[in-house]
Formats: sequence, C-alpha cells, structure tokens
Amino acid sequence: MSRADAPDRTEIGAHPGDRDGEPLLSVSDLRTVFHTERETIHAVDGISFDVHAGETVGLVGESGSGKSVTARSILGLVDEPGVIEEGAIRFKGENLVEAGFEAHRGDIAIVFQDPANALNPVYTVGNQLREALSIHQGLSGKAATEHAIELLEAVGIPDAPRRLGEYPHQFSGGMAQRAVIAIALACDPDLLVCDEPTTALDVTIQAQILDLLADLQREEDLAILFITHDMGVIEETADRVNVIYAGEIVERAPTQRLFAEPEHPYTEALLESIPGRTPPDQRLPAIEGEVPTPNGPADACRFAPRCPMAVEACRTAAPDPVEVSAAVDHAAACIFAGDDGDQTGGDDE
Ligand code: SF4
Repeated sequence: MSRADAPDRTEIGAHPGDRDGEPLLSVSDLRTVFHTERETIHAVDGISFDVHAGETVGLVGESGSGKSVTARSILGLVDEPGVIEEGAIRFKGENLVEAGFEAHRGDIAIVFQDPANALNPVYTVGNQLREALSIHQGLSGKAATEHAIELLEAVGIPDAPRRLGEYPHQFSGGMAQRAVIAIALACDPDLLVCDEPTTALDVTIQAQILDLLADLQREEDLAILFITHDMGVIEETADRVNVIYAGEIVERAPTQRLFAEPEHPYTEALLESIPGRTPPDQRLPAIEGEVPTPNGPADACRFAPRCPMAVEACRTAAPDPVEVSAAVDHAAACIFAGDDGDQTGGDDE
C-alpha cells in the first residue's frame, strides 16, 4: 500500500513532540468494564499507549470499538455502570486511577463531537468561558472578561466582545465548536483529548477546525489525543496511530509507517475504505459486519468473524501483539504480523 499520493502532513502532526522524555500521559493495561444485569462488557480491554508533550497521537476505529470510553476513562468521566477495573492512567507520572482525577482536572481538557451538547444552552458563551477561567485559573471580573475575549479571538471568532454575550444557539456549528475549544483552552491544559471533534461538521468547517487545532498546538505546545473513525483525518493529524477494535489496540505505528505498511487486516480494511483510494469506477470497499460487543474475555481474535485471512488458529486463542519493528515502535496483534507479506491465511485457501 503506497502513501506516495497522500498529501504531506503539515497540520496537527507537523509538530512531532518530545519523544525522548517521559510521556505526558501513559495508559497501561487499561480495562474499563460495564457491569449490566445480563452481561459484563469489556469496553476497553487491556489497552496501552503513551502521549508525549507536544505530539498528536491518534486513536482510530469504528463506532463501538471503545474509543470514547477510553477518552472518558482518561478524564475520569466513566458513568455507572462503567468502572475502571484494572490498569493505570499516569499523567505527569501520577496514576490518576489511584490518586483520583481531580488533581489534574484542568491539565487535561476534552473537546466532544457535538458542540451543541457540550455547551449549556441557558448560559451565554461568555458566562461559560468566565466560569472555566474562574475554576481553573482563578480569574474573575475584568481580568476574566479580557481573557475570555482573547480566547475567542485565539480560536478565530470575530467580533469577540459582542459574541461573549450571545447564547450557544446563536453560533453556527463551526463557531460553536470553536467556542468549545476556547472553553477547553480556558483550563490551560497540557493535553487536549479531541473525541471526534469534526464529525458533526461539514467538510469545509472540518478543515478549518483541524487548522485551528494545528495552530493552537504549535502556539501552546499542546499534546493532543485525537480520536476518530476517519482514517483520512488521522492521516492529516497524527504523528502516531493506535488502531482500536472491540476494546483492544490491534496495531500501533508511526502514521506514515502505518499507512505504507499496515500489518493488521483490520488496519488494511480501514485504509481501503478511505474515499479517493479506490478507482472512481470501482465500489468503495466496506468492512462487512459490525464490531462485536466484547462481552467475554478475549479467547480468540475478535476480528476473526470479519477477517478474510482468518484460519482456525485465530478462533482458538487471542493473538499476542507482535513487535514488527522495535526501531519505529510498530506492533500488530495478528498471527500473521511480520510475515513479510507472504500471508496465506483464509479458510478458503
Ligand atoms: S489473527 Fe487471524 S483473524 Fe485475527 S486479524 Fe490476524 S488473520 Fe485475521
């Protein structure tokens, strides 16, 4: 699979971050489960990844793969009946699962998919900004108002002093998402978790928001965890990518490496479904079936029912991650990973 015709990444991921030091965020063997009357759902089932200062790490997968539960776990926002059952979420070296999430509440901010849900409709945007500035930076009165104006201007909202007095319904979708980002920045975060921040927006506005995040990352030296189902967006934004499927990370690699040399059949299928990669006279390939609900321990490859490479061994044991290249930190959880492209799997062969 070639990346030769892919656009240069000059956006968010253009700022590769400091990978030599300790990670800003280190998630290790995280397990977040939901206990219901009928079953236990292993929504996040033993995932590990790091985010270093100033870099953008992608978490990509279909709906139901565990992306948003991962985001909520990192923020300490998992609602009942969900619970973090095992693992560590270390931020600046402190395990938030043990120490509690309050101490770093303002250091990690989140931008959700739908700005209409993120903003409180009965308060002006200015009120919501000033409240965040009061809680996280101790600002009030004139100082809070002035900084709120600066934040709206920083996210590209024109006529900021007037717009402070407006309610969320007076903002367009793109402007509302800019306001949400401004409120996130009011926390003065080191890490911004972006959970499908452009999915609810049209393509033009999506590009503007991605540009805005790139600018802010450069100016503020922000680390970004970018969560999306869209491989095209991940290619534009991330320095490194984690591919998540049914609660497990099935492949991780630097972005260019992942797009050029995917090792996991699920990653390959996601790449093949990017619009523009298929000749115009051919139908866009889709991955048949749905992500299974992980309602039991992983005793097989969870992708097996949808995998064209599947063989009997895939259904009798969960594949361990295989380090394909330690030099670039590329690993994939597939029994054929690292087989130099001579895979001959598939039960029909
Ligand atoms: S382990 Fe088997 S089923 Fe799973 S991705 Fe690899 S080939 Fe497919």
